[in-house]
Amino acid sequence: MVKAKTSEQEKSPEQKLKRTRKAPVKKTATPKTKTPENNQENETIKDVTYPLVIMRAVITPGANVTFAAGRESTVMAMQEALSNKSYIAIFTQNNNSDLRPEKEDLSRIGLLCEVLDGSYDDDNKFRSTIRGLQRITIKRIIDDPSDHVRRVEVELLPDIEVDETVAKRYFNAVFAALDMALEQQNNGGRNILVNNVPADMITKARSCSSVGEACDFLAQILNLPSNDKRYILDNLDPVARAKAIIAFLNNYSYKAETDKKIAEEARAAMDKSQRDFYLHEQLRAIKRELNINIDDSSDIDEYNNKADALDAPEEVITRVKKEISRLASMPINSGENSTVRNYIETILSIPWRTQSTLNRDLAKARDILEHDHYGLEKVKDRILEFLAVQTRRENVDAHGQILCLMGPPGIGKTSLANSIAKATGRKYVRIALGGMYDESEIRGHRRTYIGSMPGRIIQSMIKCEVNNPLFLLDEIDKVSTNSFHGDISAALLEVLDPEQNKSFNDNYLDLEYDLSHTLFIATANSYNIPPALRDRMEIIDLSSYTADEKFHIAKEHLLPKQLVKNGLSADEFNISDAGLKQLITYYTLEAGVRGLERIIAELCRKTVKDLMINPPKNPKKVVLGVKEIEKLIGPKRFDFTSKLKENRVGIVNGLSVSSVGGDMLQVEVIANEGKGSHLLTGQLGSVMKESVFAAIAWVRSHARAFNLAPDFYQSVDLNVHFPEGAIPKDGPSAGCATVTAILSALTGNPVRSDVAMTGEITLRGDVLAIGGLKEKLLAALRGGVKTVCIPYENKKDLWDMPKVVLDSLTIKPVKTINEVLDIALENKPHKFEPKTLEQWTLKDYIDREHKRKLRQEAEERKISMEIKDSSEASVTAIKNEESKGDKKTDAQD
Ligand code: ADP
Repeated sequence: MVKAKTSEQEKSPEQKLKRTRKAPVKKTATPKTKTPENNQENETIKDVTYPLVIMRAVITPGANVTFAAGRESTVMAMQEALSNKSYIAIFTQNNNSDLRPEKEDLSRIGLLCEVLDGSYDDDNKFRSTIRGLQRITIKRIIDDPSDHVRRVEVELLPDIEVDETVAKRYFNAVFAALDMALEQQNNGGRNILVNNVPADMITKARSCSSVGEACDFLAQILNLPSNDKRYILDNLDPVARAKAIIAFLNNYSYKAETDKKIAEEARAAMDKSQRDFYLHEQLRAIKRELNINIDDSSDIDEYNNKADALDAPEEVITRVKKEISRLASMPINSGENSTVRNYIETILSIPWRTQSTLNRDLAKARDILEHDHYGLEKVKDRILEFLAVQTRRENVDAHGQILCLMGPPGIGKTSLANSIAKATGRKYVRIALGGMYDESEIRGHRRTYIGSMPGRIIQSMIKCEVNNPLFLLDEIDKVSTNSFHGDISAALLEVLDPEQNKSFNDNYLDLEYDLSHTLFIATANSYNIPPALRDRMEIIDLSSYTADEKFHIAKEHLLPKQLVKNGLSADEFNISDAGLKQLITYYTLEAGVRGLERIIAELCRKTVKDLMINPPKNPKKVVLGVKEIEKLIGPKRFDFTSKLKENRVGIVNGLSVSSVGGDMLQVEVIANEGKGSHLLTGQLGSVMKESVFAAIAWVRSHARAFNLAPDFYQSVDLNVHFPEGAIPKDGPSAGCATVTAILSALTGNPVRSDVAMTGEITLRGDVLAIGGLKEKLLAALRGGVKTVCIPYENKKDLWDMPKVVLDSLTIKPVKTINEVLDIALENKPHKFEPKTLEQWTLKDYIDREHKRKLRQEAEERKISMEIKDSSEASVTAIKNEESKGDKKTDAQD
């Protein structure tokens, strides 16, 4: 073990005496560089052969070092040097295992040292103090078998000469770096000096006469890594040694400063959390003093208690407990703390198994449905059938079909779902799917996202606090199926599919949730539902209301509801029956009753305002009739009947249906003299365009039957127009109406204004089935027509038409377009003589054709006459020629 010591400590009285070393071999040399003590003692080093001592530690010149020698040869070398007052040559060994290392196994540069003292210690080890004098290198090793000590012949290595000003600059730089490092050490940095080295050694270093000497000295007392020490010993250039020392010191200062900064920051963070903790404790103490109710158990205890009481699957309890213990070991201020807390609170607030008591009394359910909604008999029946089966199946397995209420807006889908909830004793929750484009709205975000939370399904469950509510998925036909943010319909499938929803996986919870007790009901305006979803649902059609149904709904439900909402009583306000009918016919244009409800609300509001501003002296009941309504909300907004006052040429009542119900629209055709072009207007879709072309083709191919010239199309331009051009239209069911309108326009045969029609036609004139018959018939009824032509194939749908429709309309199921034409055109189409331009009519055509034929025959006759004439002429000519020839021959003979 090597220990650096101060020279003062080590100096014994004898050492202070001037000593002359005895040379074991005769050569002498004078070292150019001397240690500080050498200088004082003015001693000369003459010998070049010294006992070799091998050490593990690196020692630099100028240092006093104490070490305990183990190897016998080392002890003898030390003793010899001590008794002879000679020096030893210290080298380090590259390879420690070799007992008799050769020159190349030893370090290139070693140190000539003086042995100051030596004695055996308690462990029987020879402990001595040596002092480094000068760098040396081995010339050769002298191995004398008779000698116990190995010796080396050495060469003294003086320092490289350096310019004095440069040396001075480096001297100052070394001590400036040292001062800075000492300052960092005093500010709490780790120890820069080797352990047990007294601080006054630094003063001693400052008194060194040269930069090289100072660096050698510092290398011994500073806490230098052994590599750096080796570098200093190996380097004869004092500037290089100074640079190494400066680099070490600066590195130390930088590290100390950074460590300090980090420590300060950590302390600041600690201080804040301690301060918060302290303030919280103070707050609790104050509350306790003021007798304010505080829960003394910590949040963690509270969470644990809740987790214990949670009625949930084992897996959920284990997870939440794990998260609670994670939270307990987390610093209050860490960002993750609130994330974990949110997660725990979410899990604790989910109704895993809590259920509301269901009403299994079907009769009661029927009464509730009857009470809440007028009409809808078939729908209510189907709902009751559905509920009956659901109740029965629940004993066997929990899942059944999903209901989907389909129909135009305002028809009562949402309120029906609400009534079903009431009827079955379930809580009611609703999410609107319209416009939803991100799958994670259903399934939630993973917890790794900032601000993540469960999806809408789980959120709704938390809101309703039970796991068996009625869950309304509103507007399921409006979900986006093709989105960059995942496929919502796929997520919904997992929710709705009875096979999958037992273990619904929300991304945020990362736990399975059982949705099989929930009664899902969807609503839609159209059949445009992703097929996989539609497959899981039982669709119940709610079609438009008749005017009569609307009247009853308004009288029995909407008006009483609005009275309550507007703070009126039945004794104060009413709308007469005529008034309600007026509202239905002339103020609303809809399949449902939402608009009607809005107008009734408007009338209520206006009445309330009047009553408040001009309170009547003798209050009497306000009853709004037709006139009062007109005064309050203005003249009629829609007038269907005005559309068809008289029979007109080229205008036919067509019937259409859309997601907002049925409508009656006029197909108009104008036939002009022209060159055979067709113009279709009114924003028609491709299916509708094709249907119009099929209609034209049919009319062309049957032109003769309607007394039209077969070539009429060559001299006529047709413009087919579907009004309300701003609304795009598509669908094939206007085929019948188009043919009728075209034929009427071509022949001038007026169309009956009290007839409406619907039906697709083939090129052969057959009428094909259509959809939305009820909506269309209701629209026809609203429009005031008397007769409606429908495809024969749709006759089967008439069985569940409202009675009022069947009673008020003459419905004519037709197989071919000819039947339609017979019904719709004012005059029998086949017998009717076209009243339009002469050249289109068949009569004129036949005349034309007759004349053309006569002309053609005359022409042909003329040609054949000419041929005959010319052939007779040529025969005569030939004969003449022949007779001439005969005469000649006769003469010759
Ligand atoms: P939807 O969901 O089909 O768009 P809503 O359920 O919102 O329509 O119905 C609109 C309004 O009409 C609600 O106030 C509802 O109570 C009322 N309503 C619709 N149909 C009926 C009915 N048959 N009987 C009583 N009220 C009805």
